[in-house]
Amino acid sequence: MNPLELLRDDLRDFAGYSSARKEAAACGILLNANECPWPQEGDALGLNRYPSPQPAPLLAGLAALYGCADDRLLISRGSDEAIDLLTRACCRAGRDAVLVCPPTFGMYAVSARLQNARLIEVPLLAERGFAVDVDAVIAALRPEVKLVFLCSPNNPSGNTLSAAEFDALAAATRGRALMVVDEAYGEFSRSASALGWAERHAHVAVLRTLSKAYALAGARIGALIADAGLITALRRLMAPYPLPTPSVAAALAALQPAALALARSRVHLLIAERERLAACLGQLDGVVRVWPSEANFLLLQLADVSTAWTRCQRAGIVVRRPQGAGLEHCLRISIGTPAENDALLAALADEALA
Ligand SMILES: *Cc1c(COP(=O)(O)O)cnc(C)c1O
Repeated sequence: MNPLELLRDDLRDFAGYSSARKEAAACGILLNANECPWPQEGDALGLNRYPSPQPAPLLAGLAALYGCADDRLLISRGSDEAIDLLTRACCRAGRDAVLVCPPTFGMYAVSARLQNARLIEVPLLAERGFAVDVDAVIAALRPEVKLVFLCSPNNPSGNTLSAAEFDALAAATRGRALMVVDEAYGEFSRSASALGWAERHAHVAVLRTLSKAYALAGARIGALIADAGLITALRRLMAPYPLPTPSVAAALAALQPAALALARSRVHLLIAERERLAACLGQLDGVVRVWPSEANFLLLQLADVSTAWTRCQRAGIVVRRPQGAGLEHCLRISIGTPAENDALLAALADEALA
């Protein structure tokens, strides 16, 4: 099946908004976009001009980073925007559905709700380290399901999909739904990326972001890697100028060789800190369990989560109490600097938590 068939049929020939920057190259005397002809005092970026909808240098840089062709990549305002765009583009309100495997990232359900798409939930198997229930996902596929969101490494459990699980899910969704693999934490994982599957299967899409490993959460730069035809269609549907010029500049700077090398060394440090923190936390009395993580956070289960939470608060440390079945006594803790991680350990260790 051509993945374009997953697009809402009422949108297939919709051209979207035709912006000035789409209609004509931004060179020569620009009198087509009602912009101010002068930049602000001190503006070195040319913010008086509307940005390119998909700046070619950033497109090339991200395609090189993720090892895909430029025409298979859509730059979005964070991966959040790509999740929302896919949901709106593929799901008819009140009729189609999105399949998710909770506990997982909350934005899939939020976007489904906003689009009035049905949410089909196939819970992860908490007793099997939050593995995807592959058979149950396959059993839940039906014609209304247009999107299957899988998160690997999963937020908040930190585990990844295995190659065998990818294969089974890709085979089951082929011709039926778009399988969207969210790899927001891919850089922190040893497991194979779904980018290879996306290369081989037109109905597999991958979400990546500069928000986590590349230290640019504030810039809001995400990427969707998918079938080139689908990417072309989504470009028509998305906001005309989604990428602010300062964010594009920050992303281009982050893709310079020295910045990439620094990001890689920080990822290594965060992985080392994750393993150190997991080992130390595992020794504490009140900690029942620390799940193995391939992301930049840890999920832990505590004998008394309220006390642990209060301890952190008193120490001025903000951690997350994730919601959902199997997470009742859990905290999700992001890996910080070594000093921040030491402060966390001190806050939780100072007396027995139990
Ligand atoms: C943080 C996170 C994102 C958000 O990415 P942005 O690019 O900042 O929008 C996406 N998916 C998951 C699973 C996340 O945890």
